[in-house]
Amino acid sequence: MNPKPFERKTALVTGAGSGIGRATSLRLASGGAFVALLGRTEDELRQTLDEIRADGGEGLVLVADVSHAGQMAQAVERLVTARDGLQIVVANAGINGTWAPIDDLKPEEFDSTIAVNLRGTYLTLHHCVRHLKQSGGSIIVVSSINGTRTFTTPGATAYSATKAAQLAMVQQLALELGRHNIRINAVCPGAIDTEIDDNTQTRKERKAIVPVEFPEGDIPLTGGKPGTAEEVADVIAFLASDASRHVTGTPIWVDGGQSLLR
Ligand code: NAD
Repeated sequence: MNPKPFERKTALVTGAGSGIGRATSLRLASGGAFVALLGRTEDELRQTLDEIRADGGEGLVLVADVSHAGQMAQAVERLVTARDGLQIVVANAGINGTWAPIDDLKPEEFDSTIAVNLRGTYLTLHHCVRHLKQSGGSIIVVSSINGTRTFTTPGATAYSATKAAQLAMVQQLALELGRHNIRINAVCPGAIDTEIDDNTQTRKERKAIVPVEFPEGDIPLTGGKPGTAEEVADVIAFLASDASRHVTGTPIWVDGGQSLLR
């Protein structure tokens, strides 16, 4: 296997300062890609860049909020000015938002989850696709088992709606972008050990719980232990590489079989 499948390629990863985005950035950079690290928290992004450089890789930091059209336009412009093209885009930034029963979930809470997870994905693709069209490329959208196979996380209506919509976008765009030699796929992680719980507000969500229990643990492959960000990053790297050159419009569940139990 080629140890540097991404040599001479430029990648953009959103939410690159922690969790799956950080692991993906390190993985793509170790495979030879120049990686643009986009997110809201500059310190975290700088740390990721330091780690990439310590490993002999290269990249740049782009501070932007994915839900903000102007900031995203500027960030992508900065990237394409610094580099000659763009071939890989990982739309990963996301929040759990507020998990609450539907009659308790406030309109502004619903809107903020939609803004980051769905509008953020749209803006990422909207600004990047024109550059991918120049040489073809691969887009990976980080969705979830929630909203694509499972609907049992209590109170996660807004979150699962965004994750379902992301997969719909992937399937719609696989047709639209195929003629430009752009592939687009989704990874749908199950429980992964990251910092996402810091971005979760819960309120009376147990009122929306569905009483199901799995005595053997709910991740068959690991006996209940969550997956790692690196395990998701490996699948994203596969979808970014030529090894998946005939794959587009496809969700891949990275969950140790968790979603099949629900
Ligand atoms: P994380 O909180 O560690 O990482 C999310 C990153 O996105 C953070 O660096 C955060 O700063 C950034 N971010 C959040 N809002 C942003 C905004 N408005 N603009 C720019 N950056 C923003 O969590 P993670 O688990 O690595 O999540 C990454 C993706 O994986 C998310 O889309 C999430 O829905 C998805 N996912 C995670 C799990 C899990 O169990 N961890 C499961 C399924 C899906």
